Amino acid sequence: MIVYLNGEFLDAHDAKISPFDRGFLFGDGVYEVCAVYQRHLYEWAAHCRRLFLSLQRVHLSLGYSEQQLADIAHQLLEKNGFENATVYLQISRGAVIGKRDHFYTPGLVPTIFAYANPWPEAMLEQRPTLKVITLADQRWQRGQIKSVNLLANTEARQQVHAQQLDEAILTRGDEVVEGTSSNVLLVKDGSVITPPEQPYMLTGITRQVLRRLANENGLPFIERRVSVNELNDADEIWITSTVRELRLVSELNGKAMPTNAPVFERMREWFNADKCRAIANDK
Ligand code: PMP
Repeated sequence: MIVYLNGEFLDAHDAKISPFDRGFLFGDGVYEVCAVYQRHLYEWAAHCRRLFLSLQRVHLSLGYSEQQLADIAHQLLEKNGFENATVYLQISRGAVIGKRDHFYTPGLVPTIFAYANPWPEAMLEQRPTLKVITLADQRWQRGQIKSVNLLANTEARQQVHAQQLDEAILTRGDEVVEGTSSNVLLVKDGSVITPPEQPYMLTGITRQVLRRLANENGLPFIERRVSVNELNDADEIWITSTVRELRLVSELNGKAMPTNAPVFERMREWFNADKCRAIANDK
C-alpha cells in the first residue's frame, strides 16, 4: 500500500514518524475521512471546510489548500488502483526530538499523513441494519473538533463490540448527542429530528447531506434537542457517517425497532441518487 507522509508517497512499511510526534505523545492532532465513489471525492469541499475549522480550533496551520489536498487524495487512489475507498487524512502537531512539553515547543512542524482504504464491493451493496445501545457520553466538551484523541470513543465502541453490537448512542443526562463515530437522527410522525450543531458533537457531513436532501424534497427536518425518551419512542432511528453512510437501527437497548421504515427508504434513495449525480458531474 502506498501512503502519503509529509510530501512523499511511500510504501506503508517505509513511512516513519518520530515517537516524539505530539500526535503519538498527546493525541495532539486532527483528522478527516472522506468517501470516494468511482474516484469521485464525495463532499470534498465540506470535509476540507471541517478540517480547516478543526485545525483553526487547535491552532494548527497546514498550509495546504483544498485543491492540494484533493491532489494528494487522487494520487493515493491512482497509485493504489482504488476506485471506491475512504481517504483518511491526519495532521498532528509534529515532533521536536527529546521534547515532551505540554505547551507547543518552538520548532514544531506538522506531520501530514494520508492513506486510502479500499471499500469492498460487498460493503457498497449491502448496508445491514444496526444494533445499538445508549451509553453515557464520557468525552470532552469539544467534540466539534475532529481530534485524533479518541480514547472515550474507542472505549465505548469496544464495550459495544464485546456485546456483538454495532454502535453506542452517547447521551448527556437526558439528552441524545451522537454515536461514537456517527450522528443520530430519528423519525417521528413523518419528520426527521436530530440534535442541533453544538460544541460537544461533531457536525457530520453525512448529516448535512441528509439535511440538504430533506430540504430539496420537502421532508421536514428539525434540528433541536432530543431526549432519551424521544429516542425510545421513535418510529425510526438512523445512524449516519461517511463510512457507514445511512443506516437503520433495528435494535435499541435490546428492544427491536419496527422493520418498516418508509422515511428511511425514501432518504436512502435520495442519498444514492445524490452520489450518482455527484459522480456523473465529475466525469
Ligand atoms: N460523530 C462522530 C463522533 C464521528 O466520529 C463521525 C464520523 N466522522 C460522525 C459523527 C459522522 O460524521 P461524518 O458524517 O462526517 O462522517
